[in-house]
Amino acid sequence: MAGAELIGREELAEILELFNREKVNLYRYGGGNYKTREFEEKFASWMGVKYAHAVSSGTAAIHCALAGAGIGPGDEVITTAWTFIAPVEAISALGAIPVPVEIDETYHLDPREIEKAITPATRAVVAIPMWAPPKMDEIAEICSRNGLMLIEDAAQALGASYKGSKLGTIGSVGSFSFDAGKTLHTGEGGMIVTNDKEIYDRAAEFSDHGHMHIPGLPRGKDPRRAKGLNLRISEVTSAIGIAQLAKIDMILSKSKENKRRIKDGIRHLDNIVLRPFSDEAGSQGDTLIFRVRDREAALAFEAHLMEHGFGTKILPEALDWHYAGVWGHLLGEFDRYRDQNLESLWPATGKMLRSSICLNIPVLIDDATIDKLISAIVSGADKIG
Ligand SMILES: *Cc1c(COP(=O)(O)O)cnc(C)c1O
Repeated sequence: MAGAELIGREELAEILELFNREKVNLYRYGGGNYKTREFEEKFASWMGVKYAHAVSSGTAAIHCALAGAGIGPGDEVITTAWTFIAPVEAISALGAIPVPVEIDETYHLDPREIEKAITPATRAVVAIPMWAPPKMDEIAEICSRNGLMLIEDAAQALGASYKGSKLGTIGSVGSFSFDAGKTLHTGEGGMIVTNDKEIYDRAAEFSDHGHMHIPGLPRGKDPRRAKGLNLRISEVTSAIGIAQLAKIDMILSKSKENKRRIKDGIRHLDNIVLRPFSDEAGSQGDTLIFRVRDREAALAFEAHLMEHGFGTKILPEALDWHYAGVWGHLLGEFDRYRDQNLESLWPATGKMLRSSICLNIPVLIDDATIDKLISAIVSGADKIG
C-alpha cells in the first residue's frame, strides 16, 4: 500500500547516513536528534504549517494532539462512528468521553449529527477524513459557533485537501500515521501538525513524560507542567521518513491517476454507487469506495473479487475495527454506553458500512492489472444483479 510498496535504497541510504555519523544516537531527545528534526522540518514545510512533531505511531499522534489541545477527564469529544478505533482509544485514554455520531453520504461526520450531539460538556470535534475531505466548512462553522476545538485525525488522508487547504491544517491541530496501510510508511510512526505554539509545546511535552525541553537546561533539570508518556520516535524511523517524504508527490499523483482509470472503467455500472465527495478534487488516491445493494451483496462481491485475486481494504473484511457499533469492550466503560445496544445508536452508519466495498489502489500497478481489476468489478456487479 502506497509508501510501503516503495521502501528501498533511498530509505537504506538515510539509515546508513545516520550510522556513518561519528557518534550514532538513536534517542529522540539525546541531543543527536538531527534526522527527526529534519523529518519534522520537511514535513512542516510540505504541509505548509509552522510546527510538526514526530512521534511513535499514528495512535500516539492523535493522543498527543488531543492532550496538546487540552482535552482531559470528563470532556466530551464528538467524532464519527466510522473510523479506525485509534482516536476513540486516545479520547478514552485521556479520561475524556468519546461521542461517535452517524456519517453522511460522503462517509464522514454528518454536520447535523454534530449539532445534535453537543452538550455543555462538549469540548472538541475530531474529524476523521477517510481519503477525502469531510464537509469542513460546515463543521468548522459549528465548532466556532459553539466554542469547540476542531481536531483532525488525518491518518488516512495525507495529501488530501478541502477547497485547496490540506487536511490536517484546517483545525487547530492535525495528526498522521505512517503505519503499513498509510500513504507514507516508516515501520511505525506518526506526526502532529499545528500553527499553534501552545498546542505544539504541550503535545511535545506529553510525548516525552512532560519534559518542557527548556533550551540550555540539562534534560534532568527540565521542569514539568503536565503529565505525559513516552511516545517518542527514534532516529532510525525518522531517517526512513525523510526518504519516504521525498516520494510523496509521486505517490499521490500515481495513485490518483490509477484510481481515476479504475473509476472510469466502472462508472457506467448502475448497481454500484460510487461515493460522492464534498470536494472531489481534494480526494486522495489510496482507496476507492462504492456501495452495493445490501450486506449479502457486499459479501458476495468480496468473494468474487477474492476469486479474481483482489482483496478488499477495511470494508467489508475489517469492519469490526472501524465501526463504533461493535466496540462494547471500549465504550462499555462509559455510563452512557454501558448496557446499550451499540448497533442501535448508529444504525445508518452500520447499514452503509455493511453494504460498502473499499479497494486499495496501489501506486505500482501495471495496465494489465488495472484492466483485470476493472473486469473483476464489472463481472462482480453483473453477478450480484
Ligand atoms: C491508522 C490510523 C490511526 C493509527 O495509526 P497507527 O500508526 O497504526 O497507530 C489513527 N487514526 C486513524 C484514522 C487511522 O486510520
